[in-house]
Amino acid sequence: MYSDSRIRRSWVEVDLNKLIQNYNIYKSHLPENCEIMAVVKADAYGHGDVPVCKALHEHGVHNYAVSNIDEALALREIMQDANILILGYTPVECARTLYENNIMQALLSEEYAEALSAAGYRLKCQFAIDTGMNRIGLLSDDPVYCEDVIRKYANIFDLCGIFTHLCVADSSNPDDHSYTLRQIDHFRSVYEKIADLDLPFVHCLNTAGGMFYYDDCPTELSKIVRLGISMYGLSPAAEITLPEGITPALTWKTSISMIKNVEKDCFIGYGRTYKTERAIKVATVPTGYADGYSRQLSNRGYVLINGRRAPIVGKVCMDQMMIDVTGIPDISRGDEVILIGSSGNETLTADHLASIAGTIGYEIICGISKRVPRLYI
Ligand SMILES: *Cc1c(COP(=O)(O)O)cnc(C)c1O
Repeated sequence: MYSDSRIRRSWVEVDLNKLIQNYNIYKSHLPENCEIMAVVKADAYGHGDVPVCKALHEHGVHNYAVSNIDEALALREIMQDANILILGYTPVECARTLYENNIMQALLSEEYAEALSAAGYRLKCQFAIDTGMNRIGLLSDDPVYCEDVIRKYANIFDLCGIFTHLCVADSSNPDDHSYTLRQIDHFRSVYEKIADLDLPFVHCLNTAGGMFYYDDCPTELSKIVRLGISMYGLSPAAEITLPEGITPALTWKTSISMIKNVEKDCFIGYGRTYKTERAIKVATVPTGYADGYSRQLSNRGYVLINGRRAPIVGKVCMDQMMIDVTGIPDISRGDEVILIGSSGNETLTADHLASIAGTIGYEIICGISKRVPRLYI
């Protein structure tokens, strides 16, 4: 199928058309004038930031958010005109690089703003406001303090905006609902103090926020939605049903490297954690936790082969794992195995694997390691 046959150990296929379609569907549920900032941190959630951003940029997307300066620089090379915001920490020694590459930096605290300003560059910046997550930002409990700091640095930097992050917008729990409304209200109280600055970037909604809190949000605070997970076709939380038509853009595949019959009462894998209760047929596949396949899925996860589910038996190894393929007819070495994706009528999503592994889909897709090549279709 692919010219370079070496990739057929373990590989990811990204459907960029699906990603654009997800973007369009998500956007179609928002008012016409609402803009989207594409969150492409962590190598576009493991999808590969350069190809993803090329596709988005061609589609007219102008605003991007990343987590660090390396990601920002890679994107600046391919998109000279885009707005690129670094959401997280950049060492102050990089101030000049930020300036020369026209990259917007989040200001995480007053102390950080002070240190960054000492470099003497009129950087493009946005202040993070902490409305209840206790991660980064100026504490919104004291809007007067926020105002003082924002006004001070509005003169020192080229201040472009303020933003906050909602930490339970994906929850349907009533208590979480009030917490989110309170976060939005705190953000509003800070915004109102500095509304006269006319900052172009004022934003607080992530994927879940845009889905459930758009109408609770004053329009000045919701002109931009920071869209991450659902652009890739996954849900912000297990209990959330995505809008019709949003589907995962990523498929993860591997090949069968060996098939054998294992007798009853034999052990499979490290730690002898699996004992055969009857004679079974076992396939080995060359993907393991060094590829980012969670060891939490040992003896719990499954893969898809020829439209059927096949359970993982034994511990996931560093570079390999074993699966029970008893009863799956017509298989041989070299056959394709779906780790994440669809086969026949069966679909196995990153969200589903996450629920088995006790984590979130975000971690599953970001965890697929660099040694797994990404192909674009
Ligand atoms: C990661 C992140 C997002 C995107 O979150 P999703 O749930 O993937 O939409 C938005 N804003 C900030 C500050 C983030 O760190």
